[in-house]
Amino acid sequence: MTNIQRVSASRLACEAMRWHPMGSPGAHNGGHCAMCGHRLDKETPALPLKDAINEKSFTDWTFLARGATHVCGWCARTVTSKAKGYDPNSGKSKVVEGDFTQTYADVVITPEGIFPFRTNQARAWFLLNPPEPPYVLWVKSAQRQHVVWRANVNYSRDLMVFPHGFQTLVVRPAQLERGKEAYDELLRRYQSLPGNKSRKTLFIRGLSRTLESTSHGAFSDRVLEWINQQGDPEIRECLEIVRSLTPGELWALGALTALKDTPQKPKPFVIM
Ligand SMILES: [Zn+2]
Repeated sequence: MTNIQRVSASRLACEAMRWHPMGSPGAHNGGHCAMCGHRLDKETPALPLKDAINEKSFTDWTFLARGATHVCGWCARTVTSKAKGYDPNSGKSKVVEGDFTQTYADVVITPEGIFPFRTNQARAWFLLNPPEPPYVLWVKSAQRQHVVWRANVNYSRDLMVFPHGFQTLVVRPAQLERGKEAYDELLRRYQSLPGNKSRKTLFIRGLSRTLESTSHGAFSDRVLEWINQQGDPEIRECLEIVRSLTPGELWALGALTALKDTPQKPKPFVIM
């Protein structure tokens, strides 16, 4: 892709949907898109902010670029056009229909299509096998939340940056894999102790899917006591590897540890 820096998440989403941008290049005098913040060049289609959003229902005013008067045609399209399609992974051909950002809540977007990112299976697959760049992914933390135009575009397979609601998560797939191996080894050794066979987690409450738990990623006192008492350097190293994971990687570890099978690549949504 030429001029790779200029691609916004909204544009990638529109291209995956086969949607044309809204507005016209003559509708603005430069500046930046109020939503994605990308520069409006002479050839960039755009429309006035008041025409792109519904002022009565829009609630993300604080995320808009300060002083910007126009919205690029791709951002405008994602918040106004209806999306329709079905998820072939569910086996029910369930039709998803509505405002794009409501329809596609947790997704991975690549030039190949829009993929579901809601189940542990799908999350585990993409977090360990990032798509070819550029790609975008996000997780919504509330039902009515417009995330696409605030999402980061990823240009690396070694570092994934994405919004989880209003937070930004960072996942290094290689470090996540290392963390998973270290966690599995710790758990295996802990479960081998007398009376521990049925213990399912080393953390206080398991890992949070919603990131709302204040104890997300905190080892239980009982586990820390065991690690301190037995003094095995290998176990100590496993603990340090898991502790070096970012909050996003711990969130990802939650998806990985919940799986019993090897994750499979999900099928893209069928756009109608
Ligand atoms: Zn924009």
